[in-house]
This record gives sequence, C-alpha cells and structure tokens, in this order.
Amino acid sequence: MDLLYRSTRNEAACFTASQAILKGLADDGGLFVPERIPALTKSMDELAKMSYQETAYEVMKQFLTDFTEEELKDCISRAYDEKFDTKEIAPIREEDGAYYLELFHGATIAFKDMALSILPHLLITSARKNQVKNEIVILTATSGDTGKAALAGFADVPGTRIVVFYPKNGVSPIQEKQMVTQKGANTFVVGIRGNFDDAQTGVKKMFGDKALAEEMAQAGFQFSSANSINIGRLVPQVVYYVYAYAKLYGAGKLAKDERLNVVVPTGNFGNILAAYYAKLMGVPIGKLICASNDNKVLYDFFRTGTYDRNREFILTTSPSMDILISSNLERLIYRIAGDDASANKGLMEALSADGAYSITEEMKAQLADFYGNYAPEAETAEEIKEVYEKTGYVLDPHTAVASRVRRKYVAETGDTAKTVIASTASPYKFTRSVMDAIDEKYDAMSDFALVDELEKLSGTAVPRAIQEIRTAPVLHDTVVEVSEMKDTVKKFLGI
Ligand SMILES: *Cc1c(COP(=O)(O)O)cnc(C)c1O
Repeated sequence: MDLLYRSTRNEAACFTASQAILKGLADDGGLFVPERIPALTKSMDELAKMSYQETAYEVMKQFLTDFTEEELKDCISRAYDEKFDTKEIAPIREEDGAYYLELFHGATIAFKDMALSILPHLLITSARKNQVKNEIVILTATSGDTGKAALAGFADVPGTRIVVFYPKNGVSPIQEKQMVTQKGANTFVVGIRGNFDDAQTGVKKMFGDKALAEEMAQAGFQFSSANSINIGRLVPQVVYYVYAYAKLYGAGKLAKDERLNVVVPTGNFGNILAAYYAKLMGVPIGKLICASNDNKVLYDFFRTGTYDRNREFILTTSPSMDILISSNLERLIYRIAGDDASANKGLMEALSADGAYSITEEMKAQLADFYGNYAPEAETAEEIKEVYEKTGYVLDPHTAVASRVRRKYVAETGDTAKTVIASTASPYKFTRSVMDAIDEKYDAMSDFALVDELEKLSGTAVPRAIQEIRTAPVLHDTVVEVSEMKDTVKKFLGI
C-alpha cells in the first residue's frame, strides 16, 4: 500500500509521493508530510555492507512508494555518480574526538548537492507518472548556494529549464563566478539590480501570477520550485544519516544499538529534520543538536518554546544559516502537535501575522530529542583556527558553528556519546572567511589567491568545482531591473 502525504495545514487531502514532489508546497500553504514515518526494513549489519547508492534505495523506497524499483534506481544512479569527487559520496573524517560527515563532495561543494543532484530526476519521473506533458520550468531566487546547486542539478536534464535570479551585488565573487559560468542549454542566470528579498519577492509573484501560468500552459510550460521544503529534497537527506551510522557501525566505531548524537548547522531546518526522520525510522540516534549562528531564533525556541522572528537580521560568515524563518520547522511543529493540522495552522498564521508563536507545555515536552545552542561570529572563527592548529583539518564556517556547539553541548550536559557533525560545505567555498580566521595576514589577498594558500595549508587539493571556474568563460551576463523579471522569463521561454 502506498505511503501517502498530507499537508501540515489540512488533514483531508492525500497525495502520492510523486504528486507531492510535483506540487512542492500544498495549495493551503502547508508542507507535505508522510502519514507515518516508515521503519527501516534492513538490519544495521546488512546496511553496513551497502554502498551509498544501495542505502539510498533502501531508504527512499520506503518514502516514495509509488516509484517503481527501476524508476528509483535510475534516479539514484543518475544523481550519485562521478559528479561527486569521492566514491563514498559522503565520507566520514574522524578529527578531535568527533566524526565529520562530509556532505560537500558534489558538483558545487556544499551539502545542497546531496538532494539537488537527485531532485531533477525525481521531478521528471513524477511528471511522467502523472501524465504531465508540459516542460517543467524551475524558478529560483538565490543568495548564492541554492542557485548554483539547482543549476548544476538541472543542467541538461531533458524536459526541464531553470531560471535563477541573484542579487547582482549581493553574492561573493566565487559564488557569482560559479553561477555565470554555468553550462547547459536549458539554464538561464540573471542578475537583478536589487537585494535577495527583491529577487525572492519577484519569484513569488511569478509563482502566483495566474495570467502568466495560463500563457505558459498554452506554450507547454509549467513552473515548479526546487525549494528546500519539497519532500523530494527532504527524503534524499535522510539517506546520509542512515549511511553514516551504518558505516561507523561497520567499521567497529559503534557497538550494536549504541547511541550516536548528531550535530547539524541549521538554517531552514531541513537537514536536521532529515536526521530526526532517520531516528524515527529506527537509526539509534541520540540527541539532535541544532546549531545556529548569531541568528539564533531556533536556540531561543528550544529554550523557551517561543518562536520569535522579530529581531535584527545579522549577516554572518555562515550565510546559508542567516535565516529568521526556518520553513521546515513546521513539519516538527505539526508532529509535536499530535499531527494536528488545525493547531499547526493556527501557529503558522500567528507567525505570519505577528512574527511569533508559542507552543504548549505538552508540545514542548516532546522536544526532548532536541538540543539547541549557537556560536557567535568570534567563536566560529576561533573554532576554525583551533581545530586547524590542533589537527590540520580545515572547517568551513557553517561546519565550525556546529563543531563549536558540540563542545558547548558536551560542557553543559557531560554526555559522552559519540557524535557525528554534518559538514555542510567545503572550506574552499568560503575561502576568505576561513583564511581570515586562521591568520589576519591573508586579509589583503584576492579570493582566488587565497584558494592556493588554502591548498598549501590544508593539504587537500583544490576541488574541481573551484578549479573549473577559474578559467571557465562567462556564459550568462544578463542583468535586469526587478520590474523586468517577468519579461525576462518570458523572453527566455520564447513566449
Ligand atoms: C543550506 C545550508 C545549511 C542549512 O541547512 P538547512 O537544511 O537549511 O537547515 C547549512 N550549511 C550550508 C553550507 C548550507 O548550504
């Protein structure tokens, strides 16, 4: 029997996995959740022997039950191939008493690749299964990382096109170069004269534009989103927690059923929610440790039970965690409300009206699996420097936030359980912040000169993703006003 999906804001309607992937967000604004979390069907001894791809199949087939074995295996083999620079896909590095699960070996050297390399295949398979004949047009606004990972995932995938808008002066030089050198006849990268919010608002407007949707349909197109709330992004992220546990167990680092804590540097709450789902599937995960930067909304939430976005937005060196509304938290709220869509809906309405809500004591009591803490900027830089000086291993700022929070957790609780830290980006992606943390003398050097310095210092070769963009030709140079975004899309589609 199929596992069905429901909206977190309305219990009535049910969708198959492929329908939920195609829709992305429910019509009522809620997020799709599976009606129950399936249990693992393979033992740890069996999982320990599996490759990443085999593990992905075991986990994903439990969630995406309307995909055939052939369909799912085809998606997996297209996603997790030589785009990753290591056969293990997600290798584990043991340093300074913790296991760093490196999720940055894909095309854009950040963890978004883990899901965005498979999402395009899940999406076109879903379209086929539901007799959708239109070409799928992915529309994305990016502050840097998501856009490039989505471009890399969708480039040259038949039946899809992708348009990415980024703030012309709001991304790092390396991030911009990564995007404007993107290959693929179906890709289109556009700078806008405005900030990220302008880009985001422009994209949202197009998604809600009925007349535009009509015009598109007549020309054989429909919009979709590669947004992190799509279950087609969430489910592939459960895989690496199962894989990490199984590999550590297989290597004798964990005894049978030994508890493993997980620390996740968190922004939109997708990655840590995937770890929670892995735990609910039966992986012996202990605490789920939610690490924030100075934008510590989640830390405050776990301490007080009140989620409050009414605060200053702080720009940090871990920009992918600079978020005040963690969209995927809604799935946890729904669960701790006892799968009560109307209770959840009330809280989400309060969030959108007042920017805040408080959960009940009963709900709070169900958060015992979670622990929240944060690392301010100075501590994050210190963590990079200290881990480097002690071990020679270089952390990116996002991972450093998590690494620091692990220390705080241990100091506060005395918990000695083994710990996996989700390492979400390569230090090469944030070379300037990383090198500045290690030594002030690097301050005057250009971004690309710093890349060479980092190679010398870390002893890890410059990843292909960075090597390529140094010499790659610029293929996208369109820059438009915010008011021209819609016409730009139409022109690209030829309508
Ligand atoms: C997106 C991102 C995060 C945050 O992940 P969420 O799933 O949004 O919580 C952390 N680190 C890096 C490098 C990212 O790109």
